[in-house]
Amino acid sequence: MNLPSRKLIANLPTRIEKLERFSQKFEGYNIYIKRDDQTGMEYSGNKVRKLEYTVMEALESGADYLITCGGIQSNHARATAAVAARLGLKSYLVLRDKGEKHLEGNCFLDRMLGAEIKFITAEEYSSSRMEIMAEIKKKLDEKGHKAYIIPEGASNGIGTFGYFNAMNEILEQEKEMEIKFDAVVTAVGSGGTYAGLFYANRIAGNDADVFGFNVCDDDEYFKNAVDKILKESFQYTDEPVDYSKDDIKIIDGYVGEGYALSRAEELDFILEFSKEEGIILDPVYTGKAMYGLYNEIKKGTFDRYENILFIHTGGLYGLFPKMEQFNFEIGEKATI
Ligand SMILES: *Cc1c(COP(=O)(O)O)cnc(C)c1O
Repeated sequence: MNLPSRKLIANLPTRIEKLERFSQKFEGYNIYIKRDDQTGMEYSGNKVRKLEYTVMEALESGADYLITCGGIQSNHARATAAVAARLGLKSYLVLRDKGEKHLEGNCFLDRMLGAEIKFITAEEYSSSRMEIMAEIKKKLDEKGHKAYIIPEGASNGIGTFGYFNAMNEILEQEKEMEIKFDAVVTAVGSGGTYAGLFYANRIAGNDADVFGFNVCDDDEYFKNAVDKILKESFQYTDEPVDYSKDDIKIIDGYVGEGYALSRAEELDFILEFSKEEGIILDPVYTGKAMYGLYNEIKKGTFDRYENILFIHTGGLYGLFPKMEQFNFEIGEKATI
């Protein structure tokens, strides 16, 4: 199949590692992690895979400005700012401000990477972010620039190919490692990562199931969102796949307090996991999804599966604004 062309930016392929101690918590499961948190440093995480395709489309259209949007701690916005700077383009970010502190984590890096930032309210964000970005594009274009708008999370038809490509990478790695993953698991925030994995899995005729844990909204919302993204992506390949909405397996129940809000039990889980495996999960996506996987394995939801691959989609910088919630004390007494 002919995929759209991509700009090579990310450090690929990313490693797949076994979670030795985490797997031992359950009987009869081997749990692996794909280190997409190591796709880069400034543009680390899952978004750069999608940006490889969206940015190529932008470059081909002659763009010199990338406009995108997200929450104040958006990994996608930060990755876009990083990719733009790396390629000598400018970036303009429209960020949702709920009254949080501004210069931390991803938002600090946005500034470091030279992004121009416009803060809008949560209401403006949900009702009219596309119009606001279109207005910015119009003004930039009038000034002689050529701006390209990337939607939230780069989760559109073209961005999907980032995780289409990642699924093919996984199938190659399976052969090298002589392992067959029967379940692939990811966090879901706008649906593009899930859609890409699902699409390539179907095209390859692979019999693994792809699971998503939603970190906002609910399963019904994301079945529709993924369906819409898939249909958009088919326009680039003319090779649609058949599926019903029930094939899109989204597990709801781990949003907790809401998007980007953390419960103590989630942070405790992240802390335990990092001490045990030496891998740090983020509080907004991977922490909730891995906590969900842990609970669902305990409940028996994954009884049919043996080799489970969790995608670490990144997000480390989003942990820094949560530092105080961990209640660590500086100068805690050493034991020896
Ligand atoms: C954006 C993001 C996700 C979710 O990916 P979508 O394609 O938006 O569903 C998962 N993990 C991290 C760290 C992210 O930044």
